[in-house]
Amino acid sequence: MTFVVTSNCDGCRFTDCVAVCPVDCFHGDDVMLYIDPDICIDCGACVPECPVEAIFDEGALPDDLSVWLSINEQRVRHLPVVNARQEPLASAEEAARRLGFL
Ligand code: SF4
Ligand code: SF4
Repeated sequence: MTFVVTSNCDGCRFTDCVAVCPVDCFHGDDVMLYIDPDICIDCGACVPECPVEAIFDEGALPDDLSVWLSINEQRVRHLPVVNARQEPLASAEEAARRLGFL
């Protein structure tokens, strides 16, 4: 089992999640982060840190977000680890508002 980053992260990249991950399993591109399923220890610490509720336990992934399990798995192979908090994207506030979190 693993935890999975889903579409709400796209355009936000708040990175609050990486600060609490004990095993540095987040990887990132220019728009969002992804979790390495081979490294994640299923601790769940990242879930309450995400201000846009983008992270799900694999076992609780809604059907319409299930595709993100394989997207995370594929993307981490080609992206660098992100293990330090960064500035959110310039689009983060607008994206969070559009999603109803602000
Ligand atoms: S805290 Fe949420 S929105 Fe921010 S990078 Fe992590 S998963 Fe993405
Ligand atoms: S569940 Fe734990 S180990 Fe997995 S990504 Fe979140 S903080 Fe890291």
